[in-house]
Amino acid sequence: MSQNDKYPEDGAADESSAGSPIQYFAAQAKVYPRAVSGFLRQFKWAVLIICLGIYYLSPFLRWARPGDLPDQAILIDLPGRRAYFFMFEIWPQEVYIIAGILIFAAVTLFFVTSLLGRVWCGFFCFQTVWTDLYMWVERVIQGDRNARMKLDKSPLGWEKIWKKCLTHLSWLFIGVITAGAFVLYFNDAPSLIRDIFHGEVSRTVLAFIIGLTLSTYIMAGFAREQVCTYMCPYARFQSAMFDKQTLIIGYDQARGEPRGKNKGSELREHLGDCIDCSLCVQVCPTGIDIRNGLQIQCIACGLCVDACNSVMDKIGKPRDLVRYDTEENIELRAQGHRPELHLLRPRTIYYTILLATISALMLGALLMRPDLGLNVIHDRNPLFVKLSNGDIRNGYDIKIINKSYETKSFRLVSEGIEGASLAIQSANNDTIDDLSVPPDSVGHFRIFLTVDKKHAQDANFQFKIIDNKTLASSATRTIFITKIGD
Ligand code: SF4
Ligand code: SF4
Repeated sequence: MSQNDKYPEDGAADESSAGSPIQYFAAQAKVYPRAVSGFLRQFKWAVLIICLGIYYLSPFLRWARPGDLPDQAILIDLPGRRAYFFMFEIWPQEVYIIAGILIFAAVTLFFVTSLLGRVWCGFFCFQTVWTDLYMWVERVIQGDRNARMKLDKSPLGWEKIWKKCLTHLSWLFIGVITAGAFVLYFNDAPSLIRDIFHGEVSRTVLAFIIGLTLSTYIMAGFAREQVCTYMCPYARFQSAMFDKQTLIIGYDQARGEPRGKNKGSELREHLGDCIDCSLCVQVCPTGIDIRNGLQIQCIACGLCVDACNSVMDKIGKPRDLVRYDTEENIELRAQGHRPELHLLRPRTIYYTILLATISALMLGALLMRPDLGLNVIHDRNPLFVKLSNGDIRNGYDIKIINKSYETKSFRLVSEGIEGASLAIQSANNDTIDDLSVPPDSVGHFRIFLTVDKKHAQDANFQFKIIDNKTLASSATRTIFITKIGD
């Protein structure tokens, strides 16, 4: 039965409910997917193992960095305001790189969807991967589809209690390690694990672990296909990326219909290849019947393809009654024409150009990324000070960003303002010609710029820092104020 069949059309509801109030709500029927084997199922297992392996193990990868810098290859260091990804270190000012990565990922997803349909949903999405894992655990403990249905219908007894309890405990355990792995991306993994075992974990970390454990448990254990059908926005708008040449899961109506049970060769002659065994429906994780045509619930996981192929093998018919195909090819086959595959289409070409452009821009941004920066903040109060000799002085907070892994010495100059002299207020031994900034850090300096009374007027000028060793420089424009108002 398809998901859509659970909801009567308005007219049907009127008829069937004559004399009683019309019911517009139907409870969600629980789906009991059956185990299946085949090429796509094997591929899904491989994807699941690789994705989970990357997710759980990545925080333990080490990457040598100088000094006190963390040696975790992938780390989002919130207190230190840095993100580390192998050789790349992203500062808060470089959040555009993160935006670039997200845009790249989105366009890649659009590109893949326009070519291969919902393969992301069917094989790689977190919801699919974790739901698959939870279903596997459920199947190992409670048995396959029929056994699980029987168990759910059976009265409460010892077998039901221990099987259900073990399933839920296993799900919670997976939820805990999933949540634990997530927080490892924000902390030094070995230290955090040690802290967890010593009970010294912070409340924030604990709250995240509990919250993510529960969300994994609920999403993969209970919500499952309903997340894809009702919650995921991508499922709703991805049809905008489809065209008639996009791969979808299709049932070959011309070959399969009229469907009918295998009742002997004579009767079979008038029937199509579909023996109406419903195996394709039983294995479907979203509980739909793909023979009714493409439906929004279909995540293109291909399990019905494996199921039907196994049936076709058994009855000695050619495979691929249900298969990945394009809408155009399904129509061509129905008309007896040869199917064709068009990979180069306007939208795939647009997406390729867009991806190449974004990749080039991001690569350029990363390669030309300066390891030196200057921020200047003019004093707000007082805006200026008139000295006893008539000269005007303005105060500035200066931040010098040193992204390199060595201590740097800088010279500060002002450009575009006449009669100016600079002074520094420093508790260290810093001078205007020797501002020292430790590696991978920001140096804060209090600077005064004084202009003699002969040249003192409101001005727009720039501060510039020059690396005393490499002569690399960075400049920032700011203002000099001599009076309040116009
Ligand atoms: S119809 Fe087939 S491809 Fe679509 S979700 Fe169900 S099993 Fe997966
Ligand atoms: S598995 Fe194949 S033969 Fe069986 S009902 Fe589905 S389409 Fe028909």
